[in-house]
Amino acid sequence: MSTLETLEILSRDAQYDLACACGTKKGDDHRKRGTDGGWLYPVTVPGGGSGIMLKTLMTNSCSSDCRYCPLRKDQDTRRVALQPEKLARFFMDIQSRRKLIGLFLSSGILDTPDRTMQMLIDTARILRRHYSYRGYIHIKIIPGASREAIREAVSLSHAVSLNIETPGEKHFSLLSRTKSYMEDIINPLKYLSQITGPEGPYRRVSKTTQFIVGASHESDRDILRYMWRLYKNLGLNRIYFSAYQQGLGDSSIPGEQRDISSTDQVFMREHRLYQADFLVRSYGFSFDDFIFDQGHLSLEEDPKLVWARSHPEYFPLNVQQAGKAELLRVPGLGPAMVKRIMAARKVQTLKDLSDAEIPAHLARKALGYVRFT
Ligand code: SF4
Repeated sequence: MSTLETLEILSRDAQYDLACACGTKKGDDHRKRGTDGGWLYPVTVPGGGSGIMLKTLMTNSCSSDCRYCPLRKDQDTRRVALQPEKLARFFMDIQSRRKLIGLFLSSGILDTPDRTMQMLIDTARILRRHYSYRGYIHIKIIPGASREAIREAVSLSHAVSLNIETPGEKHFSLLSRTKSYMEDIINPLKYLSQITGPEGPYRRVSKTTQFIVGASHESDRDILRYMWRLYKNLGLNRIYFSAYQQGLGDSSIPGEQRDISSTDQVFMREHRLYQADFLVRSYGFSFDDFIFDQGHLSLEEDPKLVWARSHPEYFPLNVQQAGKAELLRVPGLGPAMVKRIMAARKVQTLKDLSDAEIPAHLARKALGYVRFT
């Protein structure tokens, strides 16, 4: 089978693994691939910037039993694998014809985590050493990988990821009987954090993780509590969320037993979790700021608006005097708009948000939450 044919199969099987491709856009656009081939993805990378990335699995074989995953070991699907040399050559060939932002390498588990890691590492090493490729490489760390394999993968990458999947062992055990939450996921994540942390030898390497949303009974509160700890305690750079898509997993998991009419809800949950994540990373929100109804964020309104409605004592804010952190709590005002306000009020007394060139649709959202005297 040619590399191209193998890639066709592997990229089809990687289609539900969108860890580096998700954004905060409403709707399903961010789930779609590029038009030039199933393995090419439009992405935003953790360190900023966007472009087209080649994203593939090394193999769709897997010795694990994740009950939400169509590649789990008991599934009857055609199994193929790419050879590191062939993949590296293919990547460089495409790279010479069109500008790619980089390579995202993931994989099912072929026999053992470390054997699989070796295939990922070998591909990256051939690119770095044989082809002198200096561009972006993201390696997905295989659950259960040894410290040596993790370290080697990190040394060759700009970014690495290891999916946490669920907020806690209780949910994880519903979804996998072969993987250990602590030994295969949490301990490797801690090691990753250590070697890529401020004192570590690979502090420039970005690390991310992903939660699967709606495969178990987890609530948004469970996920956001874990998200908060991952940012604070392990220093992760980004956290992604992937709505569980019904029909892919074992019929016994909670996500398969959902009412079919709630399919849109799980995508909206994913969207609200991305908004909450953005509020933590860029708006100064903490876990305690989120307001839940029976453990979940509102599906109807964004978490920032829900917070503002619940804190009437905070508003209306005096736009002329309020600090940056205060202004960021106003519905409609994000970091760029707050910057405009702070620059504009240095040179004039604001009578309206239009004086700071805040677009009308955002000014309307802020109405009632700001004052000018
Ligand atoms: S490890 Fe689990 S999620 Fe990954 S490919 Fe195997 S069965 Fe799927």
